Amino acid sequence: MQYDVVVIGSGPGGYVGAIRCAQLGLKTAVIEKYKTFGGTCLNVGCIPSKALLDSSEHFHNAAHTFKTHGINLKDLAVDMPQMIARKDDVVAQNTAGIQYLFKKNKIDSFEGVGSFVDKNTIKITKDGKSETITAKHVVIASGSKPTALPFLPIDKKRIITSTEALNITEVPKQMIVIGGGVIGLELGSVYARLGTKVSVIEFMPSIIGTMDAGLGKELQRVLKKSLGMEFFMGHKVTGATTKGKKVTVTATNAKGEEVSFDADYCIVAVGRTAYTEGLGLENIGIKTEERGNKIPVNEHLETAVPGVYAIGDVIKGAMLAHKAEDEGIYVAERIAGQKPHINYNLIPGVVYTWPEVASVGYTEEQLKAQGVQYKAGSFPFKASGRAKASMDTDGFVKVLADAKTDEILGVHMIGPRAADMIAEAVVAMEFRASAEDIARICHAHPTYTEALKEAAMAATENRAIHI
Ligand SMILES: Cc1cc2nc3c(=O)[nH]c(=O)nc-3n(C[C@H](O)[C@H](O)[C@H](O)COP(=O)(O)OP(=O)(O)OC[C@H]3O[C@@H](n4cnc5c(N)ncnc54)[C@H](O)[C@@H]3O)c2cc1C
Repeated sequence: MQYDVVVIGSGPGGYVGAIRCAQLGLKTAVIEKYKTFGGTCLNVGCIPSKALLDSSEHFHNAAHTFKTHGINLKDLAVDMPQMIARKDDVVAQNTAGIQYLFKKNKIDSFEGVGSFVDKNTIKITKDGKSETITAKHVVIASGSKPTALPFLPIDKKRIITSTEALNITEVPKQMIVIGGGVIGLELGSVYARLGTKVSVIEFMPSIIGTMDAGLGKELQRVLKKSLGMEFFMGHKVTGATTKGKKVTVTATNAKGEEVSFDADYCIVAVGRTAYTEGLGLENIGIKTEERGNKIPVNEHLETAVPGVYAIGDVIKGAMLAHKAEDEGIYVAERIAGQKPHINYNLIPGVVYTWPEVASVGYTEEQLKAQGVQYKAGSFPFKASGRAKASMDTDGFVKVLADAKTDEILGVHMIGPRAADMIAEAVVAMEFRASAEDIARICHAHPTYTEALKEAAMAATENRAIHI
């Protein structure tokens, strides 16, 4: 079969790219090695983790905040198998949705491992049988897999990755999370909310280290206060052993002393590595980068081989579903002869802990390093009427604006529904709004979004009203 475009991988990069190709009239096929579509995001990433985060947050609130709201519950208990079953159902609904969308858009799908024979010919192998299809253009959207530490073998039973952490059918007493990044903190939160004693071991001095420093500091404080999570910063993990149902993790602390931690489970969440196994890149002369195994692409996301593109986690940049999606659309439109654009500086980053953390644009640290003159305005949620009503008073919104022009350069927030609120900042920055623009736009009362308006007012001649 001859296609205009063949996409390898059906994650958010691949499936969105394929749908956009089909919309543009290109005959499109997708190859996926797993039974279900949706890649990491839908099957073992964004969607299942958010399903468990929502369930565990309900339990935590029922146990800790309902009483203050005047709601008394008796015999509150976690039904872990049901929580996991609901999560599986949410995943199934989403992956079935992709199947429906492929059908609707007349996209052919093939189950099996896609591998380059040459730049226009792809071999699809499943259960020892293979067939080949040809394409004018190929989009590699093969994603990523959890990074393993060479000295710490993952047994998938007690020493696990995020994938296994989504399927634990008991509430562990103790859990160690190696890595204070987004995935580790989200999954650690799930279990801490259910009553597990969670210890986070992190090599760097702060958690969520790539985000504005103020966010990590506040998140660490709140997770410690509200969930009893413990943080061991500046600790270099040196190994882990299992004995029966117990794990012992060893590390060197900031003073150079050997320390050890015991738990029922240890989640290794030290990042993700681009996944290129089985693609047969060597057959078309593509070499991956030594660090991170990423496929090199030019500014149009085309590899060194003309007509072969790569998108999402398998290339440089943030490993985020919405970045992969936008790249899928970008490549489809390039192939169709259009001139799309992606503003990589305005891809929001979100952490779905509670409070949520969200960020877009430059951090204060980046602006300082670049010598940019900026002004900052902050507003704490403890001064928000809406946040008081919902008892979500931790966190703040910070707006960074150019000292001379007032153009917004970065927005960083930690607080209730920050994941949704960041969209306003992204829109404002796409249109190169000033802090005063946001300050003068009417925001409904009472809403959490008023905190963004107040922070913008604080950045504009320090004229916030409620602080
Ligand atoms: C626990 C967790 C939570 C996350 N939460 C979020 C979140 O809240 N928000 C967010 O933006 N991001 C989140 N992410 C990251 C997000 O999942 C990824 O950034 C996103 O899935 C990348 O999309 P992709 O299309 O590049 O690749 P993937 O989603 O990894 O999909 C790649 C697909 O390609 C297939 N494939 C690979 N090689 C072949 C081959 N040779 N032949 C056929 N098929 C192949 C794979 O089987 C896979 O299905 C999370 C990740 C994890 C692990």
